[in-house]
Amino acid sequence: MLDLFDLTGKVAIVTGASTGLGEGMAKALAQAGANVAGVARTSCESAGKKVEDAGTRFLEIRADLSSTEPVERILSETLKAFGRVDILVNNAGIIRRADALEFSEKDWDDVMNVNLKTLFFLSQRVANEFVRQGTGGKIINTASMLSYQGGIRTASYTSSKSGVIGLTRLLANEWAKYGINVNAIAPGYMVTNNTKALREDKARYEEILGRIPAGRWGTPEDLGGAAVFLASRASDYIHGFTIAVDGGWLAR
Ligand code: NAD
Repeated sequence: MLDLFDLTGKVAIVTGASTGLGEGMAKALAQAGANVAGVARTSCESAGKKVEDAGTRFLEIRADLSSTEPVERILSETLKAFGRVDILVNNAGIIRRADALEFSEKDWDDVMNVNLKTLFFLSQRVANEFVRQGTGGKIINTASMLSYQGGIRTASYTSSKSGVIGLTRLLANEWAKYGINVNAIAPGYMVTNNTKALREDKARYEEILGRIPAGRWGTPEDLGGAAVFLASRASDYIHGFTIAVDGGWLAR
């Protein structure tokens, strides 16, 4: 049974691998045997070291995902280094906070571009490669609690992450016939740069903590199991589903 989770020889592209949840998922995939191409605007040194410590290869691809411009290069650099691709983890994402009455067009576009538009076009490019390879493949998108809830002061983030769940279902419907699994992970409240402002607001931090049944905020390591599962043969019949890794937040 454990062989179903084995990723030995597989090649994963992980966006936003320089820190936080992307770094955690890159490490977990490597520990299950996958080589990793880490995409980010900044250095992926720490993730690279963790992948190599796990005994697989790491390729750093510097790219700004605020436009679709680097999409072709991300795939070509991956293929040049590893000769194939099997897994895409669309993890890169940003958040902007402002009242909806004052929310700027820039804060709308910046977030939608990274969190949804580039996610779609990178998925499209990689899925075409899966079809060309004839191998099928795995796409894992990153949703959020704000894919389910409205949130507050996060108009573009809530819209983008609600879109991620819908797009995950649509792509699953269209690509299941090629042996491509498209699913998502919805992290709960995790300790990363993304939630720094939230955690620095002591009252808000305690309020959130008090609502998490598990009694603690999540960590990048908490996503490892779901990421490996959705990247592996163990999830071959799972299409278009979003797994919440949230310490019970949604059950509350
Ligand atoms: P983070 O800010 O620590 O990391 C974000 C990553 O995305 C970084 O590697 C960054 O370089 C990359 N990135 C952002 N904009 C980019 C761009 N234009 N081009 C290339 N790379 C870019 O945040 P995180 O918490 O690790 O977030 C990872 C994902 O998880 C995001 O999609 C986020 O929305 C989602 N998420 C996080 C939480 C949480 O509590 N931390 C909860 C739900 C969802």
